[in-house]
Amino acid sequence: MTLRLFHLNAGTMSPPSALLVNGRGGLFERARMVCHILLIERAGELCLVDTGIGLNDINNRDQLPAAFLKKGRPSLDPAETAIAQVGALGFDPHNVRHVVMTHLDRDHAGGLADFPWAKVHVHDTEHRAAVKGQPAVQPGRYAAQQWRHGPDWATYDRFGADWMGLPSCQVDLFDGWDVRLVPLPGHTPGHSGVAVKRGDDAWFFHAGDAYYSRRQIDSPPRRAPLGLLFQIRKAEIDRAQRIASEDAVRRLRQRPAISICCTHDPDEFDRLSK
Ligand SMILES: [Zn+2]
Repeated sequence: MTLRLFHLNAGTMSPPSALLVNGRGGLFERARMVCHILLIERAGELCLVDTGIGLNDINNRDQLPAAFLKKGRPSLDPAETAIAQVGALGFDPHNVRHVVMTHLDRDHAGGLADFPWAKVHVHDTEHRAAVKGQPAVQPGRYAAQQWRHGPDWATYDRFGADWMGLPSCQVDLFDGWDVRLVPLPGHTPGHSGVAVKRGDDAWFFHAGDAYYSRRQIDSPPRRAPLGLLFQIRKAEIDRAQRIASEDAVRRLRQRPAISICCTHDPDEFDRLSK
């Protein structure tokens, strides 16, 4: 039986300059960025890949960093939250028993507190950086209130299995599901892509923040618009690793059996969510 995939935008952000971030539109017009997450369903069983911005963030917005609210200008629309959209699709949010995280940045982990019953799967290195502060990253990057409810974490630190030429490990989800965590470090210490086997040979790969604009994984690569490139570099914790991760995703894109998305590209989201 194949897995059904739903593409959800769990948080529109409107940073300054459409021209510099989206590569078109006005210099002084606000840009559009999305938080592209996945809802995976089979026989009523549900799993999320990332959670975007959650109700918990919207109800406690004063706990989000002021710079994020001012520059990113997230819409903070309750209807865009994962929990609202799962319900709007006719599913019971309590059936979301698992969440697989690409990483724990505040624009990805905000919905965790809306699913306190779910097991949260993440790279061990990412968990340590975000929850224990080891290694320390940019201050204010992770938002501890997003896991104050004490999630049931499942962390992974062995990536021995080859997936399409990359190290990976199987995520322990529902019986018969083949979902893998594929480390793509550089953006954060334990940043990972999530590979989902949909059918016989077909895979979907969520690359998280390994790229922000689809043009970065073109062959040959095209540079992201300048404002976006600035954001990418400001957020990275290791440039060489980030570039190697971006290269790895570009190589995956050459394989016809794999469809790919990232988190923040609005055009890619519009195409895949149609
Ligand atoms: Zn992000």
